[in-house]
Amino acid sequence: MTPSLNERAWQFLCARYHDDSHWFDEAVDTADRPAFEHLVAIRAVKSFVTDNRFVLCPCCGLQAAELYRACGVLELKCPDCGPVRIFEGQLRAWTIDADWFVRKLRSALDTSMRQATLVIASGIWLIGQYQRRSVLLARSIDAVLHHLSALGPARGNGMPWVITPRPRKALGSDPLGGRAQWLPMEERFTLYGGNISFIEPGEPTHALTVDRAGPVHGPFSEDFRWVYLADLQAEPIALTQAQAAVFRALWQFHGQPQEAHTIMSRAGCSSDKPIDVFKVKSKFQGEAKYELPDLAYKALVQTDRRAGTYVMACAALTTA
Ligand SMILES: [Zn+2]
Repeated sequence: MTPSLNERAWQFLCARYHDDSHWFDEAVDTADRPAFEHLVAIRAVKSFVTDNRFVLCPCCGLQAAELYRACGVLELKCPDCGPVRIFEGQLRAWTIDADWFVRKLRSALDTSMRQATLVIASGIWLIGQYQRRSVLLARSIDAVLHHLSALGPARGNGMPWVITPRPRKALGSDPLGGRAQWLPMEERFTLYGGNISFIEPGEPTHALTVDRAGPVHGPFSEDFRWVYLADLQAEPIALTQAQAAVFRALWQFHGQPQEAHTIMSRAGCSSDKPIDVFKVKSKFQGEAKYELPDLAYKALVQTDRRAGTYVMACAALTTA
């Protein structure tokens, strides 16, 4: 199957993320050009200002010479090759917009706006928290291995995540030696509609083991990972860990209205509002797997916008 434009653009981006260098327009391979132009259009890639006073001779690639304009034509006088014509495209350079990259990754992970991005070391950023674990972005695994202290002491809330591009040399599944979990960006993220989407680890396997024990807490299974709402779907609806945690927290408030931050801190989620973990990303719109939890949330949870409180009425019917 030929990769889509989005897939090719994402591979192009990941392959160049390992350092903050730039590349010249004409160095982009013809096969890569549609993907590259897509990245320019969504502003993932921006133009890079190079020092054009001295330019490497394109003929020999060895000598640099001063650029000048003669009769409206750009030239340089190479000591070896003589006068050589230079085209504008040979001077136009591009680089990945590092701010765009961090911003889109943060939004893919729904990190709270309250948490700022921190520079940990050269080429390593702490971009936020995901379900109470620290998420680091790094240019390479090697950069992280040189700054292992950046991972900090292992906290009770789980191993930090480290997002980097996949290096050319083969690595084992645990290159960080148990200090952090590695998320190769080529595999754990995708590009869609000008945004980055996160593919949650463990999501596909969860869908395979359908709970058959039936509802235990109101419409929810024992572990809150399933909700039984026959009006929406005959089969139980699978929930992500974060969605289950929000429903469990709401359940524990026995139908008493609560503010968003109270619910989210009880659920152990870093998102601001309960709805945040149910929102369907544009990439997944129309897919029942993602739409049904959102519909279940809307069916079960009432919001009082004026008071800023949330209540799950079905939890009021029990004392358990
Ligand atoms: Zn030359």
